[in-house]
Amino acid sequence: MSTHILHRQINHTYPVAVGGKGVYIEDAQGKRYLDASGGAAVSCLGHGHPDIIRAMHEQADKLAYAHTSFFTTEPAEKLADRLVATAPAGISHVYYVSGGSEAIEAALKMARQYHVERGEPQRRHFIARRQSYHGNTLGALSVGGNEWRRQQFAPLLIGAHHIAPCFEYRERRPEETQDAYARRAANELEAKILELGQDSVIAFVAETVVGATAGAVTAAPGYFKRIREICDKYGVLLILDEVMCGMGRTGTLHACEQEGIAPDIMAIAKGLGGGYQPIGAVLLQQNIFDAFKTGSGFFQHGHTYLGHPMACAAALAVQQVIERDKLLDNVKAMGLHLHDRLTERFGNHRHVGDIRGRGLFQAIELVKDRADKSVFDPARKLNVRIKAEAMARGLMVYPMGGTIDGKNGDHVLLAPPFICRKEDIDAIVERLGDAVDAAIKAVA
Ligand code: PLP
Repeated sequence: MSTHILHRQINHTYPVAVGGKGVYIEDAQGKRYLDASGGAAVSCLGHGHPDIIRAMHEQADKLAYAHTSFFTTEPAEKLADRLVATAPAGISHVYYVSGGSEAIEAALKMARQYHVERGEPQRRHFIARRQSYHGNTLGALSVGGNEWRRQQFAPLLIGAHHIAPCFEYRERRPEETQDAYARRAANELEAKILELGQDSVIAFVAETVVGATAGAVTAAPGYFKRIREICDKYGVLLILDEVMCGMGRTGTLHACEQEGIAPDIMAIAKGLGGGYQPIGAVLLQQNIFDAFKTGSGFFQHGHTYLGHPMACAAALAVQQVIERDKLLDNVKAMGLHLHDRLTERFGNHRHVGDIRGRGLFQAIELVKDRADKSVFDPARKLNVRIKAEAMARGLMVYPMGGTIDGKNGDHVLLAPPFICRKEDIDAIVERLGDAVDAAIKAVA
């Protein structure tokens, strides 16, 4: 098929998606794909959910758009009330955007302006972690720690500093306890702050659970508590990126609830609108809001589509359905089932080194040899082959290469919709098993 779209991969022919119902997407040939990744951890309610469609219709009938420099709207206000009521302690306000990268850009500027408002304009550094992904716009790419994504744009990026991720499977030493490892990894932040100058750092940015670049990597217990302590000690803001891992994906509305900490600023997106509309948001603490209110009286930022009424109406409906249908309970239950099934299928697989994640956010990491954790030659593109084999079997998963350092390693990320049932999970694992074996056969 000829196309005028600059597609993600120019030499790849994409099936045409024409419909979706529940956990399935259908293409123009009538083939159905079991959506085990929610696209990129987006479609938390699956496809074609009648309540969300109804809410969007109702809003479209009333008002599709009103610019935020003239008006506020009911769906935007109602959604903000809900987001604040369910937010981590101290969060008092919401700043709307249209996606994850925009949320991170806004968070970075918000953090910088906060310090300026408080008379600390010398704070100019961001610290983030290697092997993180925060988006593709220049600010988000700057704090992102994926070498491959950064490389050709490096001359354009703002200076950001990177410490190690908290990645037990790859970085905990054999003799080290979990506690000792968590502390060592977190203490890298303190060392970096001291190296840059104690009062020169704006914020530390981290995904609470690392998503796309390393594959559902949860931090060792205690890591984020120590990070919070260090941030507080030096007046450094903690920005948590929950664009992918947040809004219920790990079994609690916010992933940081399971770490026992609250961030100063949090970015959310994907699961907020579940793909029914493009929407993201930045959640901020009262003291940040107060600094703006008593200072310049505004946040110096803005986009045309902030707080889009259609997007807010869809997101509000998505969040109401998650609560009404007690879907976080299902995320927890199906998450355990997924973990059991993955362990059955891959626990003794000679090329699966790690099965990890939380809730309906899990991954398998592929290795050449389990004993030494060596990886397949990246030139063989194992992750690309797994994706193709899965699609051929009517399964959508989210494989990625460069798990370890942006170049080496392969993993497959799973993020099925919160509405999935045991049968769906069983089908996902069965098809994934076949796809992985077929892909490995081709590269081995
Ligand atoms: N942050 C994280 C953790 C993400 O996973 C993503 C997207 O995958 C982004 C930010 C960027 O979001 P978007 O693609 O909506 O700009």
